Amino acid sequence: MRDRFGRKIDYMRISVTDRCNLRCRYCMPKGIRLVPAAEILSFEELCRICKAAAELGITRFKITGGEPLVRPGCPELIGMIKGLPGVEQVTLTTNGILLDRYLDELIKNGLDAVNISLDTLERESYKQITGSDELWKVKENIGKAAETGLRVKINSVLQRDAGENQWMALAALAKNMPVDVRFIEMMPIGYGRQYGGVSGKQVLKKLQEVYPGTFRDVSIHGNGPAAYYRIPEFLGSIGFISAVHGGFCKNCNRIRLTARGELKPCLCYDTGVELKKTLRSGYSEEETGQKIKKNIQRAVALKPRMHCFDMAEGITEKRQMVQIGG
Ligand code: SAM
Ligand code: SF4
Repeated sequence: MRDRFGRKIDYMRISVTDRCNLRCRYCMPKGIRLVPAAEILSFEELCRICKAAAELGITRFKITGGEPLVRPGCPELIGMIKGLPGVEQVTLTTNGILLDRYLDELIKNGLDAVNISLDTLERESYKQITGSDELWKVKENIGKAAETGLRVKINSVLQRDAGENQWMALAALAKNMPVDVRFIEMMPIGYGRQYGGVSGKQVLKKLQEVYPGTFRDVSIHGNGPAAYYRIPEFLGSIGFISAVHGGFCKNCNRIRLTARGELKPCLCYDTGVELKKTLRSGYSEEETGQKIKKNIQRAVALKPRMHCFDMAEGITEKRQMVQIGG
């Protein structure tokens, strides 16, 4: 599928729950009003959407949340999606706390790669950011995941109050482990509005100072808009997702499905296409598939040229990241 601006749309992020076991200060510091369980799409419903999407050329799916691993059966869902005709890749983004518990099952079910969110390696800072003291567990689980040979990326949202040392410590994770560390600019979505400020360029500049051999890596690392750099003595690469300050949108390839069944063309706007009603209206399998496909095409047609994160009054999405599936 191509959108109005000629971009190829072949990637869908699927939020499987709005529940989470952390309380990141920029995401859901006080929790959220939870979607009633009955309104959250079932695995069968998710698979019907994925089947229709795959028939339209969406080949890659990312399972996200909330925290996807708090939803019982997440590995089985991954297996179900991976088994659909046309699906090439299913990946997961997680805060890493429960990863050891499900790692074997995830791999058995065909998971292709995992992104682990980790914004700091300092215990106190981690507590401040996430409300949890389980940094040790996330660190341990990054090691365990990397040891299995699974492709691992660390996603670090840049925090204004973290110093250069914290960024460099995170980057150094890619030194001895074959993991990519990606720095993501804080987006002015939900509580994120209160924490803007650090641009990826600032971190890159520091990286180049500390490691003068840093060079641009043009190989393809995944589905996203990250620009990658390599450091000669490092096993992994360092990526930058300049969500606010860079040309993030020109290569946008994605649509997003919320846990309650709304397809979102863009993070920045409240525009969405409702799918749950169609799924629950009692149409035949065939009819449902056709209607879902039409709605997916509608969502793609509604994709805007770009976000307006630099112009607060233009942002119409008022929900938290956890409610729309970051
Ligand atoms: N719980 C999982 C996790 O943390 O990876 C998946 C859901 S979480 C909403 C997905 C990603 O969105 C995480 O990497 C998180 O750090 C990021 N995120 C949340 N709010 C954000 C914001 N305002 N700006 C940029 N990234 C954000
Ligand atoms: Fe939970 Fe992920 Fe949001 Fe943190 S960023 S509160 S781990 S959903």
